[in-house]
Amino acid sequence: MTIKVPQQILDALTDVEMPRLPAGAPFDEIVQAGTHQIPVHRSGCIVVGSGAAGLRAAVELKRRGGDVAIISQSAWGGTSACSGSDKQTLHTANTADQGDDFKAMARAIRAGGAMDEDTAYIEAVGSVRAMASLQYLGLPLPQDPLGGTLRYQTDHDEVGRATSCGPRTSRLMVQVLAREALRLDIPLFNQTTAVRLLTKGDGAEQRVIGVLSMRPKMRSDENPFGLVAFLTNSVVLAAGGPGELYRDSVFPNGCFGSLGMALEAGLELVNITESQFGIGTRREGFPWNLSGTYVQVIPHIYSVDADGAEHHFLADYYRTTQEMASNIFRKGYQWPFHASRMLEFGSSLADLAIFREGQKGRRVFMDFNRNPLPVPGDQEFSLDRLDDDVSQYLRNAGATHDLPIDRLRHMNPLAIELYRRYKVDIAAEPLEFAVNNQHMNGGVSVDIWGRSNVPGIYAVGEAAGTHGVTRPGGSALNAGQVFGTRVAEHLGASGRARDPMHGTADDEIGSAVAKIEAMLRPQDGVDLKSVRDEVQARMSDKAGILCTPSEVSQALADAMELNKAIRERGIAFGRTSEAGRALQWQQMALSSEAVLAALHHYIEGGGGSRGARAICEPAGDALPEARTGPLPDYRFRGKTEEDKSEQILVRLEHDQMRISRRQNRQFDETEKSFFERDWPAWLTGAIYELGDA
Ligand SMILES: Cc1cc2nc3c(=O)[nH]c(=O)nc-3n(C[C@H](O)[C@H](O)[C@H](O)COP(=O)(O)OP(=O)(O)OC[C@H]3O[C@@H](n4cnc5c(N)ncnc54)[C@H](O)[C@@H]3O)c2cc1C
Repeated sequence: MTIKVPQQILDALTDVEMPRLPAGAPFDEIVQAGTHQIPVHRSGCIVVGSGAAGLRAAVELKRRGGDVAIISQSAWGGTSACSGSDKQTLHTANTADQGDDFKAMARAIRAGGAMDEDTAYIEAVGSVRAMASLQYLGLPLPQDPLGGTLRYQTDHDEVGRATSCGPRTSRLMVQVLAREALRLDIPLFNQTTAVRLLTKGDGAEQRVIGVLSMRPKMRSDENPFGLVAFLTNSVVLAAGGPGELYRDSVFPNGCFGSLGMALEAGLELVNITESQFGIGTRREGFPWNLSGTYVQVIPHIYSVDADGAEHHFLADYYRTTQEMASNIFRKGYQWPFHASRMLEFGSSLADLAIFREGQKGRRVFMDFNRNPLPVPGDQEFSLDRLDDDVSQYLRNAGATHDLPIDRLRHMNPLAIELYRRYKVDIAAEPLEFAVNNQHMNGGVSVDIWGRSNVPGIYAVGEAAGTHGVTRPGGSALNAGQVFGTRVAEHLGASGRARDPMHGTADDEIGSAVAKIEAMLRPQDGVDLKSVRDEVQARMSDKAGILCTPSEVSQALADAMELNKAIRERGIAFGRTSEAGRALQWQQMALSSEAVLAALHHYIEGGGGSRGARAICEPAGDALPEARTGPLPDYRFRGKTEEDKSEQILVRLEHDQMRISRRQNRQFDETEKSFFERDWPAWLTGAIYELGDA
């Protein structure tokens, strides 16, 4: 039986209103740094970022008595508030049938390799609490009549651990967490961008003392850049991923993350070679992932050349109409590009085909009013001629309608509604899309409590490098919730964030301001726009889904050259209001060099294609084939099992990227807790390993 979902229910899940923010907290002191008068706010902890991860950390810390404030470039910006897909996914332990096995779930989370085994288990076991507490705060996750959560299968998920509130799961998470943050009176400084982490001491003695930020509304003659200092005993980096790193990107506009800032403060990054790329609509329009039902309804995919001629290009790749249509469907739950899935006519052959059309200068579209055209010489598309997994899914879903748009309307009306909100009617017109960068799996290297290598600095969400080479769909949101909670537990136990920071930081603020002044050179620096164009083009063209050893090596040399020029000449920008952006681009140029340095190191060390990237070379042992013949230009190195057991670390020392490797942390699955033996460690706080606090 089909139940028609009333419009107001669809509206509430697609048009998610955010709470009104109260006026910010006061800045009670002023520090003089050169000619700049800088307002100061003191707290026990500063959370940088108000996405789902940062809000979770702040809320949990406040509930443990922490003196915490949030600063955010844009309170309802970032990926949690502004990104999604057909059914944006939260990956948590399956509560249906016979429940889940956390060890098996942890194995699935880390299956792609280069992931700490303890972290995977933490995410698995913590997912139950993350989900239940979100439901307690009002997150409308769908249930069956007996209270089981409705589930489905998604990327890298063989079990069906995915659930969703619809296209805007993460925005709804931000909504319920933000309401809680406001209820708890946590100060949120909006339009406030962290630009430098302030630390005291060197080497093992280094610790955090604050965050220097730009807050445009504080600009004045005495403070031309609107600088403000947050003096604090602890910082939680929750600034999200570096979405601006790539030209071809499905991140919302203005996502810079904090990798560059972290490198400058001496933090170690990990796994930054690992990203996700997949099909979606680009941020120039309405950036959205085209996973799940968008492709499971099997629309016709075609390209248009400069003369307006249509090309049924997928027919050159797949051998039969059934194979082509079944792989379009599989992009639904095998969404990210994966090198090995280019082989044997798998679903990533479609990503490669779409990517190549883009390289030819053609625009690629999905048409929901047409079923796929046939492969030449083969039969017409028919729902009766699909691979078994595909036809069974569509039958189970009751999606047996003649046209893709009717199947979509039946399976997920929110998917249509969502684009309508942004003035795109996919029921009426084809939808343009491309292969885009979507997620950074790596980030700040953290331990099991979210601690970085600098005491007092933690990282959560996409800012943290907790994922391995692959991650099941929805595990990014889960990781942010689980580690947001753990960071707060750790800070709560340490007492570090209980009181506002005492003491002064005049010297550190003075030296950070001097560095900023040296970097911001309105007249003679390297042009801001050219930095952006160069970084984004290099990353998309040379370090996207396909890369070659020589191109990565050259890209690294070029990135180093750019950073050298920026160090020597600073960055030029137009209006004073662009000063913050100039610093973010300087830091993004640094992040890009770090990614390329790690990638170069990995490739030179013989690393194979894995996750998001195929490393193409004539000597490669894997050769993708198309219907029209082999594709020797895309011959690539297969993946190597040894790569799975270790992780690549990057650190900035004296303007050089220092690369090292470490083994994944292990988790002994046979080890069992024993109540009376382990209780004291909990009661005394020994579980938090508070040596540094
Ligand atoms: C199109 C798309 C679809 C996705 N779908 C899924 C999915 O289905 N399931 C899943 O698990 N994951 C998905 N992801 C990934 C997931 O959405 C993100 O990893 C997650 O939302 C990141 O949350 P976060 O809190 O770490 O960062 P964000 O939500 O990005 O928040 C970052 C915050 O930091 C602020 N900020 C940034 N820089 C600074 C600074 N210097 N100073 C102060 N504030 C700063 C921003 O304003 C923002 O408030 C998707 C991502 C995209 C792009």
